[in-house]
Order: sequence, then C-alpha cells, then structure tokens
Amino acid sequence: MSLVRLVYYSRASREMSLADLKSILEVARDNNSELEVCGMLAYEKQYFIQALEGERSVVNELYLDIADDPRHDEITIISYSDITKPCFEKWKMGYAGSSAEFHKLLSELGQHEFKPDKMTADQAEQFLRRLASHQSTI
Ligand code: FAD
Repeated sequence: MSLVRLVYYSRASREMSLADLKSILEVARDNNSELEVCGMLAYEKQYFIQALEGERSVVNELYLDIADDPRHDEITIISYSDITKPCFEKWKMGYAGSSAEFHKLLSELGQHEFKPDKMTADQAEQFLRRLASHQSTI
C-alpha cells in the first residue's frame, strides 16, 4: 500500500453555516472511514484547508470528487507527499473552526489572518497538525 498526504486549500462559495459544515463532515466521515482516508479540515470565513491521507489512488480520486463540489472553488494543491504512516488520527476526519487557539497558531506561524493562499507547504502542514489537538466538536 502506497500512502500519500495531499494538502489543498479552497475558497468557500459562500459563508458556511454550522449546518453546512456538519453536512460536509457527516458525509466525509462516513465515506472516509470506508475508504481508509483520514485527515483534518479547517474553515474560517472564506477559506477551507484540508489534509487527506490514505492510499494514493484513493486519495487522488477523492480529491477529484471534492474538487467538483460546488460549495467551494479555486481549489489549489499546496503539497502532495509520500508518507510511511498517517499523522492524523487513523481513518478519521478532524475539524477545527475559528477559535482563540486557531488564531494563536496562525500568529505563531507568522500569519495575521487565515489566508491559506499565503502559506507555504510547511506552514500549512504544521497548522493542520497542530490544530488537530484543538478540534471543534462537530
Ligand atoms: P452526492 O452527495 O450524491 O453528491 C453529488 C454532487 O453534489 C457532488 O458533486 C457533491 O459535491 C454535490 N453536493 C453534495 N451535497 C451538496 C450540497 N449540500 N450543496 C451543494 N452541492 C452538494 N467528501 C468525502 O467523502 N471526504 C472528504 O474528506 C470530504 N471533504 C470535503 C471538504 C470540503 C471543503 C467540501 C466542500 C466537501 C468535502 N466532501 C468530502 C464532500 C464531497 O465533495 C462530496 O460531496 C461527497 O464525497 C459526496 O459526493 P457523492 O458524489 O458521492 O454524492
């Protein structure tokens, strides 16, 4: 099994309500546990950023489905790498929204607002990894 991690950001097509986020995560969590994909999704105001980890062909196909979703656009891959084991909780999709911790982590990475298009690949990965221990309960 060849494992990869794909990190992308996208622009939400409108401001997402809690119900919108719940509906995305419900489907994602069901599908991903079946597909043995895990990762972390973060959202604030305009942007999503998400890491997907799993078997290469599965992650590639899932990414294409997600990229087709009209709830977001301007989908841009930040990084794509081979991994030996997942760094997010195995076969689960975590989530974090705006919070004091979210902004503290951003400023520790030298960012003043959540603009994933301004993050390097390394900053994006670190942000998601560190956010994983400050998840919102959705
Ligand atoms: P269907 O539910 O039949 O979807 C058919 C089409 O309608 C798809 O193009 C779908 O994108 C779109 N769609 C579904 N619901 C809505 C809605 N409420 N409003 C507008 N369009 C809609 N899915 C995963 O499985 N794993 C993930 O990790 C994952 N992450 C996501 C992250 C983001 C930021 C977004 C926006 C979506 C994510 N999704 C994820 C959802 C994914 O895009 C698909 O909706 C999901 O995989 C189901 O697609 P489907 O074609 O099997 O089914």
